[in-house]
Amino acid sequence: MKKLVLFSVVLMFISYTGKGQNKTIKKNTMNDTSPTVNHTEEEWKKILTPEQYHVLREKGTDLPFTGKYYLNKEKGVYHCAACGNELFTSDMKFDSSCGWPSFDKEIAGGKIKKQVDRSLGMVRTEILCAKCGSHLGHLFDDGPTLTGLRYCVNSTSVDFKGK
Ligand code: FE
Repeated sequence: MKKLVLFSVVLMFISYTGKGQNKTIKKNTMNDTSPTVNHTEEEWKKILTPEQYHVLREKGTDLPFTGKYYLNKEKGVYHCAACGNELFTSDMKFDSSCGWPSFDKEIAGGKIKKQVDRSLGMVRTEILCAKCGSHLGHLFDDGPTLTGLRYCVNSTSVDFKGK
């Protein structure tokens, strides 16, 4: 009987921590917020350069190792190139060999929206500016720092403002 009780307690503990973990991962990686900056695509075409429009609004990707911020080590803040939303600080940037600017965390406050991207035969997590819905890049869980996260961002999607 004692064994049965102990077994039940262990089972309850496992199912409890399991649920908690799932909830945390879901909360941290997927959020559903509607953009507060809304322009029609025709308006975005007038606001953005053709290159910015392609990456930010058509989910394009900078060629690896070519982006203007890939090797940037200056201190400052990276903003959404479409609406100015503050996304990352230079302290969150790390040296990555992947070819795109990479960050291990985002500025707090739900500034980045995550959604599943099933394009190109892969399942990835797309990251978008929560304020205007523009495409930023992808989020991976293979980061080398303590957070384990790698926000892989197109240079074209961000504007850097130095301190
Ligand atoms: Fe934005």
